[in-house]
Amino acid sequence: MTRTLSCHPSQKLMLTSFAPLLTCTSLQIIQRNSPIFIPEPSLDTTRFKLILITPRPYYVHLPGLIRTVVTAEGALEKQVLMPYANSLKGKGEVKVASVVSFRSTKEGGEVELSTGERLPYSVLVLAPGAIWEGPLNLPEEPAAVLEHINGWRAKIENANSILLVGGGAVGIEFAGEIKDFFPSKSVTLAHGQAKLINDTYPDKYRNKLLARVNKTGTEVVLNEYVDATEPSEDGTVTTRSGKKLKADLIIPSRGGRPNTSVISSSLGADAVTASGHIKVLPTLQLPDHPRIFAAGDAIEWKEQKQAGKSTGHATAIAKNILALLNGGEASTPYKGATEMIVTTVGRTGGVAYMGFLWGITFGDGFSAMVKSKTLLVDLMRNSFELGKLE
Ligand SMILES: Cc1cc2nc3c(=O)[nH]c(=O)nc-3n(C[C@H](O)[C@H](O)[C@H](O)COP(=O)(O)OP(=O)(O)OC[C@H]3O[C@@H](n4cnc5c(N)ncnc54)[C@H](O)[C@@H]3O)c2cc1C
Repeated sequence: MTRTLSCHPSQKLMLTSFAPLLTCTSLQIIQRNSPIFIPEPSLDTTRFKLILITPRPYYVHLPGLIRTVVTAEGALEKQVLMPYANSLKGKGEVKVASVVSFRSTKEGGEVELSTGERLPYSVLVLAPGAIWEGPLNLPEEPAAVLEHINGWRAKIENANSILLVGGGAVGIEFAGEIKDFFPSKSVTLAHGQAKLINDTYPDKYRNKLLARVNKTGTEVVLNEYVDATEPSEDGTVTTRSGKKLKADLIIPSRGGRPNTSVISSSLGADAVTASGHIKVLPTLQLPDHPRIFAAGDAIEWKEQKQAGKSTGHATAIAKNILALLNGGEASTPYKGATEMIVTTVGRTGGVAYMGFLWGITFGDGFSAMVKSKTLLVDLMRNSFELGKLE
């Protein structure tokens, strides 16, 4: 280990994708004396190279994607697909490719890219995120992304009755956007549980969400599972219990599955849980691979999967990487975060929950101010100096 750490300029610190975008930024700015970051040495870029590997040349801002696929109004694709621009502050390199496999050794390892290139690393951070379904399942090839977005806009515009399968935040936000832009369309939201979203949140929040979604004219069907992915020719869909729902378009909104096949095929099936999430220690290192960290939606951690959590992941990981590279031990644990959520209902509505004190909820005014109007686009772009698609 000491030999590795007496490193020379060609040694690389390899990072993949968005949460590591946070990690990269954290490594750069951790030394600033701010309320968020404790003063510590930042990454010595004369000794280490920071590389962000990503299949698309832009960061995909998922919180803005639902409105983008529902309407062409505002050409939101130019806002939510954000070129990496100056996000690494000139101190790292963005490599557009996918990692197809990687090797782990005691002192680092090597990744193999879809381009055939092989890159050695001293430290690897995995943040492959989730695989989404339907409109949110963007293709990897940039040329196909706009076609996919336009295809779903047309499907939604041409449908008379739309069934959303899954009443978590994604299904609720889809219902809100469709009813906002197309108030006369019939929208049904089917959810397998007795209340919307999930039991991380108290009943009072879940009840408020139901009342707010009902207000849009969406029909909410609870305690029903839908397995079909296409409606029948008579324009209906039958639930598992035999109930018939009206639909000429089904939009799956069941949430994401961890995108971790490369991790299990590279490190073995034991690196992930039965659900496919990456097993991590409190330091966010992989149990048998101290030079590999994992962050974001793909990790096994009892918390809601949210971008809001990745700042905490990134801060812990950045400190641990710096400690390792300076010859010490990774000892900073990720301590979790207070659950908070703002679920939008169209451009001007929503219901928010903050899990501190007794659990506070807010309605349309607050939700619109913090998320529904802007979809956090400028906040994200400005925070990370991301660019705008031409
Ligand atoms: C509709 C919607 C709304 C949301 N709203 C909010 C919100 O308001 N607030 C909030 O906090 N969170 C929100 N979230 C959740 C948030 O977007 C995720 O928690 C966050 O994006 C997770 O970040 P990540 O880096 O783990 O994964 P992602 O953002 O999914 O990034 C993973 C990246 O890794 C790439 N990748 C995967 N495999 C490889 C590979 N082998 N090689 C190279 N690259 C690879 C993927 O292509 C992808 O670009 C929302 C999610 C959705 C879908």
